[in-house]
Amino acid sequence: MLKQLQRMIRAERTSDGAGVSLYRSLGQSAFARVDPFLMLDEFGSDNPNEYIAGFPPHPHRGFETVTYMLEGHMLHQDYLGNQGHLRSGGVQWMTAGRGIIHSEMPQQEQGMMRGFQLWINLPAKEKMKPAGYQDIQSDQIPVVEMADGLTVKVIAGRLAQGPEVIEGPVKGVTTDPIFFDVHLPAGARFVHKVPQDHSSYLYVYEGGLCADPNTSLSSALPKRHGGVLGPGEEIVVKAIDAPTRFLLLAAMPLKEPVVQLGPFVMNTREEIEQAVYDYQHNQLVSA
Ligand code: FE
Repeated sequence: MLKQLQRMIRAERTSDGAGVSLYRSLGQSAFARVDPFLMLDEFGSDNPNEYIAGFPPHPHRGFETVTYMLEGHMLHQDYLGNQGHLRSGGVQWMTAGRGIIHSEMPQQEQGMMRGFQLWINLPAKEKMKPAGYQDIQSDQIPVVEMADGLTVKVIAGRLAQGPEVIEGPVKGVTTDPIFFDVHLPAGARFVHKVPQDHSSYLYVYEGGLCADPNTSLSSALPKRHGGVLGPGEEIVVKAIDAPTRFLLLAAMPLKEPVVQLGPFVMNTREEIEQAVYDYQHNQLVSA
């Protein structure tokens, strides 16, 4: 069954951290979530004033953050002494679990800084697990060249190409996420099957996808718009008459209550109060 567009979310320009300007798609309100995805930010600027101050030390608890850099460098440091240098094309998949306090700082004073940060919720039973990182450099991420000049960067999940199945480097995530960066030449179509029960979200960051009765889209999805797809297993989209790039995100919904206070995402009010208490008493991060 062909998935259909259920809802469109226009990314809003905002800023976060110490004044990093960005476009927030998922997460702009409690209604703009697609279980288990909590937030999706696109940051991109060639003006250092819009990114240089970065994200100074801040906490997280109860979910995962995925940072995908298209251009530019970001240095990640946490309070346990872990350090990671994220380069162009690379991905940092961070499981905050019980807690981390970290900074994410751009490592350049000029040039383009461009990328995404996605927040994925953790199931209740994993919210307090120890923090962990998967630092994945660009050359570890398969780029699959398909027919008609279409390319897919497989960050997480599986992509079938003829008899072959290409698997992304991200492993061991309970929500079984799919994270593809899809590049379509003008007018090209992309067809992909996802597990029946997965939530699916498309985010267009260049070009656009057009409305077509034979695709998943009943209305056009322009640049900086996200599309929430309904039930079904097949996604079919078609690029407008311009080169188009979009993220395809899909994962198993958790169907659990979500209580969020900024960078803490738990299941109950009490757990949020505990997180705030732990942070204020230096107990957020497990030793
Ligand atoms: Fe962070």
